[in-house]
Amino acid sequence: MRIVRRIGDLELDDVVGLVPTMGALHAGHEALIAAARTECETVVVSVFVNPAQFDQGVDLAAYPRDEERDLRIAEAAGADVLFAPAQEEMYPPGFQTWVEVEELSRGLEGSHRPGHFRGVATVCLKLFNIVRPRYAYFGQKDAQQVAVVRRLVRDLDLDVEIRSVPTVRDADGLALSSRNGRLSAAERELALALPRALATRDLAAARAALAGLDVDYVEIADFDPPVLAAAVRVGGTRLIDNVVLEEEQ
Ligand code: AMP
Repeated sequence: MRIVRRIGDLELDDVVGLVPTMGALHAGHEALIAAARTECETVVVSVFVNPAQFDQGVDLAAYPRDEERDLRIAEAAGADVLFAPAQEEMYPPGFQTWVEVEELSRGLEGSHRPGHFRGVATVCLKLFNIVRPRYAYFGQKDAQQVAVVRRLVRDLDLDVEIRSVPTVRDADGLALSSRNGRLSAAERELALALPRALATRDLAAARAALAGLDVDYVEIADFDPPVLAAAVRVGGTRLIDNVVLEEEQ
């Protein structure tokens, strides 16, 4: 597998699949890479902890980073190229151009993380321009992100197809997340209320099941497909999850 750090060094011209990540790879990311592997000649995994999508400096600073481990996981999962640019490569001095997907960025995550989707949309547009993928793979776990990126592609006539991959969960039901490692055993036990609540696929039942927790939101979101989505805080860790309402994942 090739590691590329400079934008000009990518030079890919076959059917490229892009899996954008922030590193700290786990089986959820592996599922995205495996999906890309089935239909693309070249699979590019980008690893970039995008400062623009963090509204809190502490969260950005605490984000786990281990490039050697990411490299091993990406390679074993079938990636051909790891694109790991430095921050200055993506945001050179003087950077000032942003893309905003207005309505879809409000509500849910957008209400609790100001500027988050502006950062996501901008970095995705940049990655699409840099890598020129035919397909780009995103996790259904971040359902609002999928909706925002699909809208971005449609509104700006981008030549890329967005694929959404079902959420990968641990055996106890908790959706895999790079943030799960911050949970103590007791916190993890509390966090299990989140997938259990969503598994009811019923708004009132989910609200009731999460009543004892620090809940940012529990809502039905009218995405395509619609989802029951929630975000909770357990200790210092913020967790999000959702279930598709109209079809089994
Ligand atoms: P992240 O590195 O957290 O920004 O995630 C990179 C991509 O992996 C995003 O498209 C996420 O939606 C996706 N992803 C994260 N966790 C999971 C999971 N448990 N199952 C499937 N996809 C996931």
